[in-house]
Amino acid sequence: MPTSITHSHPQPSPSPTLLTTASRIIVVGAGTFGLSTAFHLLGRGYTDVTVLDRARELPAVDAAGTDINKVIRSCYSDMFYAKLAREAMEAWKQPMWEGCYHECGVINVGGDEFDDRWKENDMKLGAPVECLPDAKAIKSKILSSLRPDTAATLTHSDSDSNERRVGSFTSYRGYFNPEGGWAEAARAVEILLSRVKEMGGRVIENQEVVGLVKDRDERIIGVKCRDGKQFEGDRVILAIGSWTASTFPELELDSQCLATGQSMATIQLSTEEKERYKGCHIYLDFQTGLYTFPPTEDGIVKLAMHTAGHTHMMSSWQVGGDIDHTPVRKISTPRTITSHPNLGDGLRVPRSALWILRERLRQVYPELAERPWAGTRMCWSWIRSRTLFGHAPQCLRELSIQRHACVRTRGDDSYYLCPLAARSRIPLQFYSNCDDKASHDGPGT
Ligand SMILES: Cc1cc2nc3c(=O)[nH]c(=O)nc-3n(C[C@H](O)[C@H](O)[C@H](O)COP(=O)(O)OP(=O)(O)OC[C@H]3O[C@@H](n4cnc5c(N)ncnc54)[C@H](O)[C@@H]3O)c2cc1C
Repeated sequence: MPTSITHSHPQPSPSPTLLTTASRIIVVGAGTFGLSTAFHLLGRGYTDVTVLDRARELPAVDAAGTDINKVIRSCYSDMFYAKLAREAMEAWKQPMWEGCYHECGVINVGGDEFDDRWKENDMKLGAPVECLPDAKAIKSKILSSLRPDTAATLTHSDSDSNERRVGSFTSYRGYFNPEGGWAEAARAVEILLSRVKEMGGRVIENQEVVGLVKDRDERIIGVKCRDGKQFEGDRVILAIGSWTASTFPELELDSQCLATGQSMATIQLSTEEKERYKGCHIYLDFQTGLYTFPPTEDGIVKLAMHTAGHTHMMSSWQVGGDIDHTPVRKISTPRTITSHPNLGDGLRVPRSALWILRERLRQVYPELAERPWAGTRMCWSWIRSRTLFGHAPQCLRELSIQRHACVRTRGDDSYYLCPLAARSRIPLQFYSNCDDKASHDGPGT
């Protein structure tokens, strides 16, 4: 398993036309990054910002960011990410987010896969981390987050005790960072959507962008939608997440943005169980890829596992795009509840993935592993490219592609809603890729 992580370096890109705050900006995609971008631009005084999304209703049900919760963590071996994540945590606490962020702390553990740089970076950045040097320390940390078992106290019976509700973590080590937790992801996107509209951004639903409009000099001057409408702009920003490569096959981004589906599942707890587990931390297992959340107010526990994920290959002529499709290429294309609505087909995950999830959960919270699944979802993201922020170099001087953070095989993929909104140093001006062979940097959060 590779262990080093290389941060991407800016590559020279063709100079885009300079923009003014009156320039017409078209953002394609009203997900996490599209809305962040619009919010950020509007905040900087841009007055003509249009966001297009193919969903009939926003947030789009199948957008990666439309979810019960996402982890907010700072354990990255790459200092850039660790810093950005810590800025995010501060930003998440701002009143704008209406309490979407829950700072329950994050337990980061692993066996051979555990990389001490995660802890070291967190410590360098001032996080009050608690080392968990062995299995005993990990078990005790998790045990202390469970509500004391009243039945066991009364009967002095070991069989009722919380001890049996926590795994053994043999050969594991790790650390606990009380700073970090989870965000109510879909609600955060809704808040951002409202803010963008309040700030004067035009958000247009039901506009599936299927191609780029170019002038005679091959400059991008807008986009065209499936219904034939065209939108013209001085800058087009693509922020369509895992749909990027398949929607624009002509950009040949499939080697950098491989759309992959990750299996997620939920468990419904009883009221009593919810009380018992509600003090739990985020648990990130870098050995198995499993990560678990504490229960929501409704007693739902979400868990997922980042692995290489699943692809859904389609021929370039099937996925569309504005090109001559010869030679035909196979491009992984998200398979979601929108593309496969029948009987919730697009939400299904492979049985094998559920089996593995359950087994991994058993190693952490054996009691919960006995519960039936309440729901499953295949959540699509892209892997391979760590950052893809900037101008597409081929010919597209007026086109920016935006997607931040990455996953690789078992890589990280981060939800930096806040820093994008708050930060002005985000390098929007480059187009960069990362070494595919670099290490994973966490179980997908
Ligand atoms: C399983 C999984 C778990 C994750 N967990 C975490 C986590 O715990 N913590 C964390 O920080 N991050 C997490 N992430 C990452 C995070 O969810 C993503 O980085 C982020 O949501 C990506 O935002 P986006 O705007 O690029 O894409 P999305 O949120 O997917 O939005 C894309 C938007 O583009 C629209 N669109 C698509 N095609 C078109 C088109 N042709 N025309 C117009 N609109 C279009 C869609 O409708 C959608 O609204 C996770 C990702 C996955 C897959």
